[in-house]
Amino acid sequence: MTSLAQETQPTARPDDERYSRQVLFRGIGAEGQRKLAGGRVAIVGCGATGSALTGLLARAGVGTLRIIDRDYVEHSNLQRQSLFDEQDAAESLPKAIAAARKIAALNSRIVVEPKVEDLVPGNIEALLEGISLILDGTDNFETRYLINDYAVDRSLPWIYSAAVGSYALTLNVVPDQTACLACIFPDSPRGMVETCETSGILNSAVNLVASVAATEALKFLVGGPNAPQVRRTLLSFDVWTNERAEISAAKPRPGCRACGERDFVHLAGEGRPHITLCGRNSVQIHERQRPIDFLELDRRLQAHGLVRHNDFILKFWHDPYEMTLFPDGRAIIKGTTDTAVARSLYARFVGS
Ligand SMILES: [Zn+2]
Repeated sequence: MTSLAQETQPTARPDDERYSRQVLFRGIGAEGQRKLAGGRVAIVGCGATGSALTGLLARAGVGTLRIIDRDYVEHSNLQRQSLFDEQDAAESLPKAIAAARKIAALNSRIVVEPKVEDLVPGNIEALLEGISLILDGTDNFETRYLINDYAVDRSLPWIYSAAVGSYALTLNVVPDQTACLACIFPDSPRGMVETCETSGILNSAVNLVASVAATEALKFLVGGPNAPQVRRTLLSFDVWTNERAEISAAKPRPGCRACGERDFVHLAGEGRPHITLCGRNSVQIHERQRPIDFLELDRRLQAHGLVRHNDFILKFWHDPYEMTLFPDGRAIIKGTTDTAVARSLYARFVGS
């Protein structure tokens, strides 16, 4: 686990020129700016939405940002993932590390804690320890339901955000007060689901939803979850058709599995697949008990294809597959949606 604590601790100096235009805004003020400096926010997933959320909150002076992401930067990310550049993609840097470096360069007075991890039931407690607000930058319901279970169980506020195509939606969840994610969506979507891989994505839809969610985060941090300006609706909009809708989320749904019955199946890890489809043509193996020596593995794989590695990631091309390995043993295998093929490749080249 990597930590990039800045040398400079967050100093709440509301008179600082840096934040002067924000302090002038009546909703924030000097007191609000001090509260932002004391804020501890986790951003789960640092792709497009996560990048935009992190950038906005870092510039706004939120004192501690914990960035949790399992993925690495690719060229196809650069169209919308605003914290990354071509060099990050060329080096296949983990997104959490690349994001932390960017943030350190644009605001050295906040603390950034990058975590190159896949948020799962077994590590959610450790990864979210000490956090007062959770922001959703993920791209899947599995992780969102996990966050929802955890947040409801611990009475922690969180903000759901999603964007695909030109469409975006967002919901503030204040446990014990508002509807939770499972109140609105009792089950994850079944069958063919639109994803950024299949439907594409406009960077403007991402930035819009991130702007709305980041502003709600500021309201939480400055005024608490009961602040009158905190939105209590599921808000959706389509930046292409200009359609916009809001449905009330002010009250929990009676009988909700999560916030009503407090049956936290996702937190308990029940039914969690050991292998998951990940994107249009790749499979992720959630192996976690297999610390990998990259130097050794690099040597072993030389005879089988092109191998590259740095401290954070090892990539191996074995035509027609591309395997990306992380130090804890997790792997993403591109070029197949067949979990058996992925399992076999893993077993052949990494071990089983
Ligand atoms: Zn609920």
